[in-house]
Amino acid sequence: MPKATAEYQADHKRVRKVRGSPRQCQVCGTTNTRTIYDWANLTGKYDDVRDYKRMCRKCHQAHDKINERKQGEGGSSARLTTEQVLKIRSLYQPALGRLKPFSQFKLAEMFGVSRTTIQCILEKRTWRHI
Ligand SMILES: [Zn+2]
Repeated sequence: MPKATAEYQADHKRVRKVRGSPRQCQVCGTTNTRTIYDWANLTGKYDDVRDYKRMCRKCHQAHDKINERKQGEGGSSARLTTEQVLKIRSLYQPALGRLKPFSQFKLAEMFGVSRTTIQCILEKRTWRHI
């Protein structure tokens, strides 16, 4: 799996909520009702519900395998650069009274990633090496 499981599932859930449950495969064209269909992420923009395609489980797995190889060692963190991660860490300030200049939500919005991604960076669960 190319990114943290919890976040991956949350993103897919959101796609289902916005675009509905897939009932066909846009790759092999099957509409078999007994097949399980997924929303497969296309280019790694997990936060973008438009970056998903309907796929049957078989095509989805094949697609993910290709993607994993493409993403290489960067994996889930590959969406941000080292520079951006350092910036996120330097900008983030826990709530000071009523002033919240850069909350995790704000940072997530600024950098176009999910709040979970920001949290992982701040808690050094990802990008531990910098
Ligand atoms: Zn298929």
